[in-house]
Amino acid sequence: MAYLRSGLKYCVLAALAVYGWIRMRLTSRPTLIILTYHRILPDQHPDRHFEQPGMITAPEALRDHIRLMRSVGATPIHLNEWLSKRTRGEPLPKLSVALTFDDGWRDNYQYAFPILASENVPATVFLVTGLLDTHRVFWPEQVLRFVTARVIDESAPELRWLLPFLPAEYSPRAPLTLTQADEVINRLKALEDETILGYLSDTPQMETDEPVRYILNSAELEAMAHNDLVRFGAHTQNHFRLNRIGSALTLRNEIVGCLRDLGRLERSAVPIFCYPNGDITAAGEQLVKEHYEAACTTKTGWNPPGRDAFDLRRFNLHDGNSGSPRKLFATIGRGIL
Ligand SMILES: [Zn+2]
Repeated sequence: MAYLRSGLKYCVLAALAVYGWIRMRLTSRPTLIILTYHRILPDQHPDRHFEQPGMITAPEALRDHIRLMRSVGATPIHLNEWLSKRTRGEPLPKLSVALTFDDGWRDNYQYAFPILASENVPATVFLVTGLLDTHRVFWPEQVLRFVTARVIDESAPELRWLLPFLPAEYSPRAPLTLTQADEVINRLKALEDETILGYLSDTPQMETDEPVRYILNSAELEAMAHNDLVRFGAHTQNHFRLNRIGSALTLRNEIVGCLRDLGRLERSAVPIFCYPNGDITAAGEQLVKEHYEAACTTKTGWNPPGRDAFDLRRFNLHDGNSGSPRKLFATIGRGIL
């Protein structure tokens, strides 16, 4: 039975891969494929032990993706360049590919940038401007790091807030598995980001012993922007999900304040917003439309020439869905079915 199931899965993946490959080869109108990455981490990197698998791509896979996209005739292009050429009615390649990286991870500089440079491929990194040049990191990583490394002391008053979010089958004598920790993160998403950050600041156990820097700093931004290879878009000031913000002022700071922060990057800044977690609200969308020229969503798909600039579709890639040519093309094929 298991053989049958895995055989069937193989056939479905193969069919989707062929479909994706053919659609890309035969596209007749100027179409844009946006690929999305988060963390680029080599196989043995220690951060892999406490990161959500859906966030990680190996450097070799990134290089393969670039070469595979070129092999189907896709032309790498800066995202904002594709959009402005389209607005001006200038000719565009039949198939373009724009690379985007969300959150501004330091590993983008360490492991992705050398590949972008050697392959001469432009990219846009969506920055969380409040975290640049700091040792702060997003709350999911703080929680993941803690619950996968330590046994949770249920009697500790400062950890009481976390207990309702632990999985039912968790053993109080062992750290959580990565799958269980992933479940905790998903459950915590019911709360406002600011609420979770408040809990974390009252939980000294979750401080890391050695301050590790996870997010890009100014020197790295400058190096990446050299030769105009990397440009930077907006991903809020604190990565607050827009549908979990109670205050109108906080919402404005996250959207408009982030664009103001980007201003210091001068020519390498692009007025494109990227919704954290893909969460969109009417008030947030209105602010984005007033202050930006385009916005990336987490909706899957490619962008035909008529796609609304504020509803750009992307393919979120990670080792699990694009670790081989067949998986990459199947992921694209499924997204454009
Ligand atoms: Zn993000």
